[in-house]
Amino acid sequence: DRYLSGLDKSRKSFSEKIRRLSLNFTGVNEEFLEELMVILLEADIGIHTAQKIVDAVENTAMDRKLKNFDEIVECLIEEMAKMYNAKEDREFEFNDQGPTVILMVGVNGSGKTTTTAKLSKLFLDQGKTVAVAAADTFRAGAIDQLAVWAERLNIHCIKGRENGDPSAALVDGCRYAVENKIDVLIGDTAGRLQNKTNLMNELSKMHRVVEREIPGAPHEVWLVLDATTGQNGISQAELFTEACNVTGIILTKLDGTAKGGIVIAIRDRLGLPVKYIGLGEKLDDLRPFDLDAYLYSLCE
Ligand code: GDP
Repeated sequence: DRYLSGLDKSRKSFSEKIRRLSLNFTGVNEEFLEELMVILLEADIGIHTAQKIVDAVENTAMDRKLKNFDEIVECLIEEMAKMYNAKEDREFEFNDQGPTVILMVGVNGSGKTTTTAKLSKLFLDQGKTVAVAAADTFRAGAIDQLAVWAERLNIHCIKGRENGDPSAALVDGCRYAVENKIDVLIGDTAGRLQNKTNLMNELSKMHRVVEREIPGAPHEVWLVLDATTGQNGISQAELFTEACNVTGIILTKLDGTAKGGIVIAIRDRLGLPVKYIGLGEKLDDLRPFDLDAYLYSLCE
């Protein structure tokens, strides 16, 4: 299964450690909880979230008088799932009044452009019509990079002008999408991060112009985060969530890290759902995030 194989690094690391933990398991005692804490920290769950999970495992194990190691692992999965609390999430919905507009935000190098292409492919596979707006006018080459992906996908790419105003490309994109009755418009925006005020101004302008073109847009603002940047990435993400109304996270490069626990940390610290995960550089390497499959593949 490709969902699982992209997570090989995280899975091997986590499940091997859990298996080692089972070898000298005598019960949910201090030693066990300490070792569990270390495993969670090494998976990049973050101290704050890890502590909550360890406490919860301890309490549940006591309450239910769990003795068997497999039951404890089930309990761990359960507590991680609770920490994630997927029930609160609003499902992604297409706008049936016109184009659904999705803005991709994030710092340079996080995988915005590649993920814009991968997402386009997912929507095309669902039978939707898609166009992309290359509004990353900041990173040299980003516009051409997206145009090349678009050509391969046989979709229209509305190109911004390098060093120009990203909002201009988004406006053009919206107009194209409306005129051509396109289902989904994905805007690849600039990942400039000099300071918070600047970022806020730029992002709020993008919001404003898109909303003026298409009422209710942007329907989603997805923050693209590189999983290999770990806890630092989360701090950076906080800047974006303060600067604009981010509605979800796309976590890229999970194939390149053993620190798969970052998913739980993101959720706990940012309060945002992980919508998709990136598991490679190819067009097909983007998966909708499935919490249960994810947790089971980590702990299996
Ligand atoms: P941008 O600056 O945010 O637009 O970043 P790019 O889309 O150009 O991606 C930066 C690099 O990360 C490229 O070499 C991509 O191929 C790579 N990349 C993006 N997503 C993934 C992923 O899920 N896994 C791996 N291994 N590489 C990725």
